[in-house]
Amino acid sequence: MLNLKDEQLIRNHSYINGSWHSSESQLEVVNPATGNLVTKVADATPKEAELTVKSAKDALSSWSQKSANERAGLMRNWFNLMMQHQDDLALILTLEQGKPLAEAKGEIAYGASYIEWFAEEGKRLYGDTIPALANDKRIVVIKQPVGVVASITPWNFPNAMIARKAAAALAAGCTFVGRPASQTPLSALAMAELAERAGIPAGVFNIVVSNDAIGVGKVLTQHPDIAKFTFTGSTPVGKRLIEQCATTVKKVSMELGGNAPFIVFDDADIDAAVQGALLSKYRNAGQTCVCTNRIFVQKNVKAEFIQKFTEAVKKLTVGNGLEEGINIGPMISKQAVAGVDELVKQSVAQGANIAIGGSRSEEGECFYQPTILTDVTNDMPVAQNEIFGPVSPIIGFESEQQVISMANDTEFGLAAYFYSRDVGRVWRVAEALDFGMVGVNEGIISNAAAPFGGVKASGNGREGSKYGLEDYTEIKYLCMGGI
Ligand code: NAP
Repeated sequence: MLNLKDEQLIRNHSYINGSWHSSESQLEVVNPATGNLVTKVADATPKEAELTVKSAKDALSSWSQKSANERAGLMRNWFNLMMQHQDDLALILTLEQGKPLAEAKGEIAYGASYIEWFAEEGKRLYGDTIPALANDKRIVVIKQPVGVVASITPWNFPNAMIARKAAAALAAGCTFVGRPASQTPLSALAMAELAERAGIPAGVFNIVVSNDAIGVGKVLTQHPDIAKFTFTGSTPVGKRLIEQCATTVKKVSMELGGNAPFIVFDDADIDAAVQGALLSKYRNAGQTCVCTNRIFVQKNVKAEFIQKFTEAVKKLTVGNGLEEGINIGPMISKQAVAGVDELVKQSVAQGANIAIGGSRSEEGECFYQPTILTDVTNDMPVAQNEIFGPVSPIIGFESEQQVISMANDTEFGLAAYFYSRDVGRVWRVAEALDFGMVGVNEGIISNAAAPFGGVKASGNGREGSKYGLEDYTEIKYLCMGGI
């Protein structure tokens, strides 16, 4: 019905302990491009979420005792299946989330790359020996899986946000319970279907789908059998979930909101900066946490940058992500469009000018035109809030010191970008930016080998890289005496 090569990849039930679990009620999955129903999925209750935790707890001992090689083999099967079914997984993702099909295919490859990478890295979870203070003692440090991991993830990357967490967890020997966003459960369930086909044992990877974010969230943050809670989403919700986790002193990782500055210095390669800004801003219709949120351009190149950037943005095509040649799909909801429209209107009322776009798109209720605002100041709401939409505010600046202080003037600290060809400036600015990740002459920075994560109100912990694996382990110190 959905033109999938493999119709079994559409699953309509939570995946608990290796089986598909019915619930009394159902939630609707709607295509944001058309408003049409894609399918319905069983809507689990908090009690059913508890069953999911039990399943992960029961599976923990045998999964953690497998050798790293055995786990890697199963994860490798999972990676292979995801890549074999990349087209179907991308179609499912576009249907529930809206992003253009080519971007959805990219997300599947990106998500799968974490499974491949962590499968290998799990084999290198080395410990330490430390010279002891006395000759008859030895100090040994081993790393062990933290235990059952629970996650809550957002709708903007329905596959990759789960893959980044589950891959590290499983590689470290943990078992996993994921609750996807209620708007985008199908990609998560398709991952569960492929995990089963890959031979990942029952209970190791579970997905619980529910409209009751608060009720299920309480189970996943407060259940004593969960050792670690990992969240990707907004800062206000993240703060609340950290509080909930305090009751059982869980290990916590938070990937929260961002407000990325994108700085173009006078000495930059302007064409490269335009391309970088285009990718970093308009991917996923501006709905990524590392999206450029404020573009700062130094005075001597401001006119040139605005002219070239406007030309490039003019070429972006808005429409249903399933159609050929679309660059900007729908936003996730009408409410999201209204929020972006409000930020644009407030900025214009405060003196910003519209270089291009600036209003809703005629494509439908969930679409917004790719927009550039000029003459923005750093205190306008569009600069101080996470826009999460296809809008680029451009702010002029004069000096390096001035722009560093404006860039850091935000509660967030996830990603930052800047373009400069002066090697001294590159080091100074990279070190001075209060952000967890900095793209230097680069607009796309995320990959499995690198530590993704933020500082300040953007969260804590890292995903990807050896640091991401360590977030799913506990360190144990062995003191061996009588030697
Ligand atoms: P959100 O409102 O915080 O929702 C994220 C997830 O939390 C969804 O699954 C949501 O469920 C759930 N949720 C909401 N309230 C909850 C509660 N009280 N208890 C338990 N769960 C709750 O965020 P969003 O607006 O969907 O996503 C966009 C945000 O995510 C942005 O701020 C973005 O920057 C951030 N993000 C960060 C990263 C990163 O790596 N740092 C990556 C991607 C996105 P429902 O679906 O049922 O509402």
